[in-house]
Amino acid sequence: MCGIVGYIGKKQAAPILLDGLKKLEYRGYDSAGLAVRADDGEVSVVKAKGRLARLAERTENGALLQGTCGIGHTRWATHGEPSEENAHPHKCMDGSVTVVHNGILENYKELRDKLVRKGYTFHSQTDTEVIANCIDYYYKKYKLGPIDTIARFMMRARGSYALAVLFADCGDAIYVARKDSPMVIGAGRGEMFIASDVPAILKYTKRVYYIENYEMARITREGVEFYNIDREPVEKHAVRVKLDENAAEMGGYEHFMIKEIHEQPRAVELTLNSYLNGEYVDLSECKITDKFLETDEIVVVACGSAYHVGVVMQYVVEKLARIPVRVELASEFRYRDPILGKNALIVAISQSGETADTLAAVREAKARGIRTLAIVNVRGSSIAREADKTIFTYAGPEIAVATTKAYSAQLAVGYLLALEWARIGGRVDDVQCAAYIAELRNLPQKIEKILENKQSVQKFAAENSTVNDVFMIGRGVDYAACLEGALKLKEVSYVHTEAYAAGELKHGTISLIENGTLVLGVLTQSDILEKTASNLEEVKTRGASVVTVSFEGAKIPAEAEYAFTVPGTHELFAASLTVIPLQLLSYYVSLQRGLDVDKPRNLAKSVTVE
Ligand code: GLU
Repeated sequence: MCGIVGYIGKKQAAPILLDGLKKLEYRGYDSAGLAVRADDGEVSVVKAKGRLARLAERTENGALLQGTCGIGHTRWATHGEPSEENAHPHKCMDGSVTVVHNGILENYKELRDKLVRKGYTFHSQTDTEVIANCIDYYYKKYKLGPIDTIARFMMRARGSYALAVLFADCGDAIYVARKDSPMVIGAGRGEMFIASDVPAILKYTKRVYYIENYEMARITREGVEFYNIDREPVEKHAVRVKLDENAAEMGGYEHFMIKEIHEQPRAVELTLNSYLNGEYVDLSECKITDKFLETDEIVVVACGSAYHVGVVMQYVVEKLARIPVRVELASEFRYRDPILGKNALIVAISQSGETADTLAAVREAKARGIRTLAIVNVRGSSIAREADKTIFTYAGPEIAVATTKAYSAQLAVGYLLALEWARIGGRVDDVQCAAYIAELRNLPQKIEKILENKQSVQKFAAENSTVNDVFMIGRGVDYAACLEGALKLKEVSYVHTEAYAAGELKHGTISLIENGTLVLGVLTQSDILEKTASNLEEVKTRGASVVTVSFEGAKIPAEAEYAFTVPGTHELFAASLTVIPLQLLSYYVSLQRGLDVDKPRNLAKSVTVE
């Protein structure tokens, strides 16, 4: 959720930490802070509420903090309001331990009470300050050094954490530990880095170590030593990441969201090309065999937009492969003791591969001996490592909080899987399969074409940006696209938007329709299109303004005040195209309303807490 960075080397740490935090700001951003260790061992902390720019200002772009070893943090508050005193880094009572933390210490109350009884005092409401004092307590009590101390803390702690710790009396070294929150360690020449995510350090190094759950590391200028919770050394090798550092830059666009919207043709093309071989789907790169895919029960678990990909998959897979598909919110799945057949296949979808609820769902399935298949964008992420098999999307780093290109790339993988299940089950022959694949290969250029006409959406957004209530309705795959479109409009434009299965409106929600309500109908599914058109008539009669999204050239039996069209494609793949104007709409409405489109309030990109 939050972003952590760390640096130890020969250069001044603070500017490098600020630069890294900038790349991680999408993870959380209610406050930020730096801790830098000076040559005399003194650790100075500077924090600021609000955007990173305030911290940069306060430290004169880092110049006020002298030292070549330090840690930094952007916070997404879970415990304690966003304020300067709750911002990280947190020091223990006597200042000898300094901590930044991503995650939630679930038993913080119990540990805090214990520490209060031992005479500790607290200045913030955070769970993280409890960690700093708890580490200090064990450090002083057992006197067995930082690794032993952190291991003791890990044995007491419940919850999730990626931690970076500075000990005032242990020389220049950064100690890290993790459980269920992401962290990577980058290796340079005579300098080392830590970060919650690779793009934060790509500018400096591409050699990265991944630290596992319940592991710790001691990082110095010379390198890194890893330990398990039993304090035994663990051997690890750095891997070379293949990301382009510019992929996380804005590249001439005004915002990451619009840049990423424009990167969708490429993301879809790369993802498809990676798993298509001529006229066949080829998942051999992921070591996925027919045997692995054979199942009579598919359960998609995901959150947010990835869940909406699951809803599309439900329609497409059931239609093409005739295998029952259930789509579950990961946060529900993990606690509801779901009934799963032995031959079920869990498909977990997550852009970051760190979504806490989805990761927990994967673990729950694995604990029951159920096969797990992940669709993930970030290599080396927890879900990618823990699922039995992983299909990576090729969306590249996604920075805007509201997903666009990762969603589109996930959809592409969903289609490929649907075709594989259909082929394995004998539901499509080679000729049919080749026709579907030919259509899939056309999607990128069709998306491109929609983007070329974005001005029409821009104009509509400008004229309608003050709207208060929007309904998006459709049936089948169109409904699934509405779910994603409505989420976009809510998250980046703060417009109350509901996605409804068109036939469901009359069962209650239609009472909300009044003069001026905007109802956007998505109509691409020919066999049920007339029914949605009737539903649009029904809302129009009750005062709504009606907008449609449909295939170019299709006859839509509904009169709309505004009609968006997208190129035609196979109806099962329609969501990949109809979602584009909806993404653009939310982007432009957000701009028109003067909002921070890349960093909407209260949201963080990868949700690594429950
Ligand atoms: N639980 C910690 C806090 O509220 C860390 C949250 C985060 O991951 O940013 O300060």
